[in-house]
This record gives sequence, C-alpha cells and structure tokens, in this order.
Amino acid sequence: MKINIDPYAGFCFGVTKVVEMAEEILHREHHLYCLGDIVHNAKEIERLKNLGLEIISNDQFLKLSSCKVLIRAHGEPPETYQHALNNNIEIVDGTCPIVLKLQSKIEKDYTENYSTRAQIVIYGRKDHAEVRGLAGQTGNNCIIVESLRDLDKIDYHRPVFLYAQTTMNPGNFEKIISVINKRIAEEGMATRTMKCTNSICGQVSGRIPRLKKFCLDNDVIIFGSSKKSSNGRLLFQQCRNVNERSYFVSEISEIDPEWLRNALMVGITGATSTPRWFLEEIALFLRRQLK
Ligand code: SF4
Repeated sequence: MKINIDPYAGFCFGVTKVVEMAEEILHREHHLYCLGDIVHNAKEIERLKNLGLEIISNDQFLKLSSCKVLIRAHGEPPETYQHALNNNIEIVDGTCPIVLKLQSKIEKDYTENYSTRAQIVIYGRKDHAEVRGLAGQTGNNCIIVESLRDLDKIDYHRPVFLYAQTTMNPGNFEKIISVINKRIAEEGMATRTMKCTNSICGQVSGRIPRLKKFCLDNDVIIFGSSKKSSNGRLLFQQCRNVNERSYFVSEISEIDPEWLRNALMVGITGATSTPRWFLEEIALFLRRQLK
C-alpha cells in the first residue's frame, strides 16, 4: 500500500501568515490574546496555547484594556478596532489580505451607492466571523444569504451588490447568481442592476480541481480537518463526490483500519485550516498499521 500526502494540502497563505505572526510574538513575549479561534483546527490551537496563546471571546475582549490582541485571518468589524482604540489595546492585525480587500470593497460600494437604495448582499454563513466582519462594513445594513431560501429577503426593484464569503462553494454561488438574475428579469428590471463580485478565494476554488484529481488517483482518502471548519466541510464534500471511500477525521483515533482494506493507494489531505504536521501524523499512523 502506498501512502500519499496531497502536495496542495496544508494551511492557506492567510492562515500561515497569522500563525507565523502569533509564533513570532509568543517566542518573544510568551503570551498573546487572540480574538476567537486563530484557526478552525483544535490541534493547532492546542499547540499554540502551549506556547502562550490565549483565545478570548468577544465578551472577554470588551472587558480588556492596555494589552495586545491578535486579530485572526477572518477579520473583524470596525467596532472591534474602535473598542481597541478607546481602551489602549494594541491590535496585531492578522486579517488575511484577501479578506481586507473584500472588506474595503464592500465598505466603498456601500458608501458610494447608499443614495441609490442599493442592497449589499453577502452569500455566507451569518454566524461566521468573516461574515460578521464583512457585514460590519455596512453597519450591518446588508442582507446575508445562506441558501436559495434567503433570496426572498432581496427587493428586486432595487440595485443589488452581491459578494461571497471567501470560503463558500463556487458552484452554489453560481446558482445564487443565476436565481437573482432570473428574479430581477421576472420583475421587469434590467439585469445590470446587479453587480456581482466573485470573492471566493482562489486558494479554495483553485484547490477543488486538484483535490478531485488527487481523490481519483487514490483508492481511499483520509481527510483531516476540524469539524468546525466550513472550508473543511466544503472540501470533504468534493472528495466524497468523486471518491466514496473518503473519510473525515479530526483525531487519529477516529481512523478505522478497516477503511484501508484492499487499498493500494491511500491519499491524505485536508482543509486550508489543517496543519501539515497533522497530515504527517496520519501518514505515520497508517505506516505503523502496515508493519
Ligand atoms: S482561505 Fe483565502 S481568504 Fe481565507 S484566509 Fe485563506 S487565503 Fe485568506
């Protein structure tokens, strides 16, 4: 049996950057607050906690003053920065540059088109930190669409500016765009009243075709990810679509050696929030099973 680790798996560059920022500070100062989970991966959080990272909730953040706080790759709404300013909190901004650019675009489109009664529509998960940061650019004066059902919230007689959370499924975003265009046309409006920004991250959409090929090249796929990772759920679904012998694990102990029966090639891959070292641990475990 051959064991292959997906060469494209491991942290995306946004997560790599924020983890490096944290490590650098922890190396010097041995303590750092981080607002929310630095990455949707319990194993990596545990490793960083051992170096001195302290994950805090929004409520805890609101009680802090005169300290240093790391903002993770998902970004934050403007009120977080305002609270920091008012309370002598030094922000170490680990917001991914792609998310920062999207935040500025939404803020600009909202400000410039407010007078035309334009609606800012964000396709994403409303409880996701990135979406809260994006919605914050409009003072939460936007419509969040999680599925086709939410499209009734849009007024199709008014202009629509549409964006997506960076880790959403590109195929589902296409469906959302097409239904909005159809409804605009049904209302007798010109489809140019919708301006769509394809804001799905290339690190996610570009990985899908490579991941599918990797899944086809292997008999069994072990997908390592935290259950909390939305990107993990999306990418695992892509694995399952092309290889039904794909298995999701967040702990080595979840691996069932029965999964490997008659497999000649076993592929190990994961989400953009899965550390490479976890994939290597899975490989080590599998190699031990072969002895
Ligand atoms: S998935 Fe893309 S947008 Fe999100 S943190 Fe990674 S690089 Fe940045």
